[in-house]
Amino acid sequence: MVELLGPAEIRGLAAELDVRPTKKLGQNFVHDPNTVRRIVELAHVGPDDVVLEVGPGLGSLTLGLLAAGARVVAVEIDPKLAERLPKTVAERGPDAAGRLDVVEADAMRVAKDDLPAAPTSLVANLPYNVAVPVVLHLLAELPSLRSGLVMVQTEVADRMAAGPGSRIYGVPSVKLAWYGPARKVAAVPRSVFWPVPNVDSALVAFERGDVPASEDRDRLFGLVDAAFSQRRKTLRAALAGWAGSAERAGELLVAAGIDPKTRGEQLDVHAFARLAAVR
Ligand code: SAM
Repeated sequence: MVELLGPAEIRGLAAELDVRPTKKLGQNFVHDPNTVRRIVELAHVGPDDVVLEVGPGLGSLTLGLLAAGARVVAVEIDPKLAERLPKTVAERGPDAAGRLDVVEADAMRVAKDDLPAAPTSLVANLPYNVAVPVVLHLLAELPSLRSGLVMVQTEVADRMAAGPGSRIYGVPSVKLAWYGPARKVAAVPRSVFWPVPNVDSALVAFERGDVPASEDRDRLFGLVDAAFSQRRKTLRAALAGWAGSAERAGELLVAAGIDPKTRGEQLDVHAFARLAAVR
């Protein structure tokens, strides 16, 4: 039996720790157990999963994941929060305490060897200012990660799940798509957080597909950065720096079967991968 945290418990813990939630670390804590249950349900995690939770904070989602039977590796940057979490779990779900590992670290820098187990799934209410870089870093660093469900601000969720031709399709959309499909699965109102943020949130689910070798990834990601750095230009012009010259960019585009007058926002990840593979 694991007891989730409600508004009174969140306030109590914050007062006990003298936590002053900072915007810099995206510290907005979920104080609504129904939201936690919904996230856990949508994440489809159970006893066979090793879940990586980035930013467990006061433990709202951690307790939900443990209640579902998962093993949880929680990576928290704030030492006060990292230190308190095992105690919170011992108090509210003593039987689950053995399935929790807390790693005090910056998720942007965490490496495979820093973790006590290989996570299969990422489930997190992410700090909003680093949400996309954190997901991309973890997918690159942890090959064991097969899927994820993350809560991010609505606009970021839309960008993560966008496809070609849309105004919001851009670098995060293509880079995430390279790992596999991503989709927005639910909206979450700002009222479920304390303190209340000034944006609404959404849940994005993603999966890892079969991806090419990482050498291709680095070349592809460089290409994507270049293509979107001047998104109003044709690819021939936008990729001049990346290819060495506009002429060379034009040749590579033609060789990849892409019209040099196309703009980056019109290409899907497969077309980008084709272009990156031409030498
Ligand atoms: N999971 C908790 C919840 O749902 O109530 C807290 C979520 S809060 C939006 C984000 C959490 O991420 C905070 O606890 C914050 O301290 C932590 N955090 C911020 N930047 C981080 C980073 N680079 N690495 C690890 N944790 C980070």
